[in-house]
Amino acid sequence: MLKGLTLRHLVLPGPGANVGGAAAAEAAVRGGAAAVVLQTVTVNPGGLAGAAAGAGGAARAGAAPARAVGQSFHRLPCSPVPFEAWLPTEFTAALAIARAAGVPCIPSIGYTRDDVTAMGRRLALAGADALIFDTAHTPTDEIGPALASLKALVEIPIILLAGPHHGEDLPDLCARLEPFADAFALIGAFGPILQIDPEAPAASPGLGFIAGPPIRPVMQRFLFETARKVSKPVIAYGGIATGADVAEALMLGAAATMVTTAAVAQGPGAYGRIAAEFDQWLLEHGHTHYAAVSRAYLRKYGQGQRVITEKEETPYLVAEACITCTFCETVCFYDAIVAPPKTLPTLSEEPCFQCGLCVSACPTDALRFRPRDEVTLLSEGE
Ligand code: SF4
Ligand code: SF4
Repeated sequence: MLKGLTLRHLVLPGPGANVGGAAAAEAAVRGGAAAVVLQTVTVNPGGLAGAAAGAGGAARAGAAPARAVGQSFHRLPCSPVPFEAWLPTEFTAALAIARAAGVPCIPSIGYTRDDVTAMGRRLALAGADALIFDTAHTPTDEIGPALASLKALVEIPIILLAGPHHGEDLPDLCARLEPFADAFALIGAFGPILQIDPEAPAASPGLGFIAGPPIRPVMQRFLFETARKVSKPVIAYGGIATGADVAEALMLGAAATMVTTAAVAQGPGAYGRIAAEFDQWLLEHGHTHYAAVSRAYLRKYGQGQRVITEKEETPYLVAEACITCTFCETVCFYDAIVAPPKTLPTLSEEPCFQCGLCVSACPTDALRFRPRDEVTLLSEGE
């Protein structure tokens, strides 16, 4: 995945509240994570407006009114422990854990040029196997100079963690910075968004970022567009929660994945579970190695052709999954579905407006989209 790094599988912790200290990193490794990753650290965490999110930089799932299953809302928190205190304690302990487990140790640092160069050099000397440069609080025009300075100082790989909030087109930003990065991690969180509590608007969370499954399609779009433009590995980071999510990310061009929200919500066993699910997914689809699906969609649509979502689609019924609840007929405003009680629905292609409501509403995933025109399946013609 990354030069000089050996990973036992493709599920890494993201550098968030899930790995808020050495003890959490150890739990992550015991839970099956492929590396020791630590929550982003900086020189003066107290100087970041709105960055602190409580003890340990908690993801604050539940601190705001729930808007979607598995969503977390936060303000891009970093470790509350300043780097000088963190290095001899949390990092030293985490490095020992990584060495004992035989996995890479990958600390995450932010955010200014002075800070990341000072911290990066010392971490490289102290034994870090790679660095994440977290740009969550880095002004966009400072990312390039900071990354170039860090690259000039350390020989270990640098993973650039960036999100769409920088304003500049993210794939173009990554392509411009490719000479100085060894890999990219996209996108971690999406925002800023505005979230209020209608019961207590004055005490509402206000501006912040969301992470978790709701942002996975957004992440996938940036992953795909960036993997089209760069040759360095891209790590999918945003809403990965299942083995199928890993497969999807790999098809779109990811070289590995990072997980935060699923581990916060479900505990550190999430890493191993997701990795095992991905292995099972491969077996169920007749593959013995992830290379069989790696970049499958990117190879097919990565040269600027129309992507499959631009083709006309139509829903079809997976009869064995249907519980004949009739809900699809209720939600179709175009009279394209007839679903009498206790009877399998009948779908008509001609009146269907391809709105997708029935596919979204079906409680058993018995309705799915497929292209109207015949297309070559990904497994063919690779
Ligand atoms: S909503 Fe789904 S389960 Fe219900 S009748 Fe339609 S296809 Fe079947
Ligand atoms: S996609 Fe929309 S128009 Fe077509 S059958 Fe489903 S609900 Fe009706």
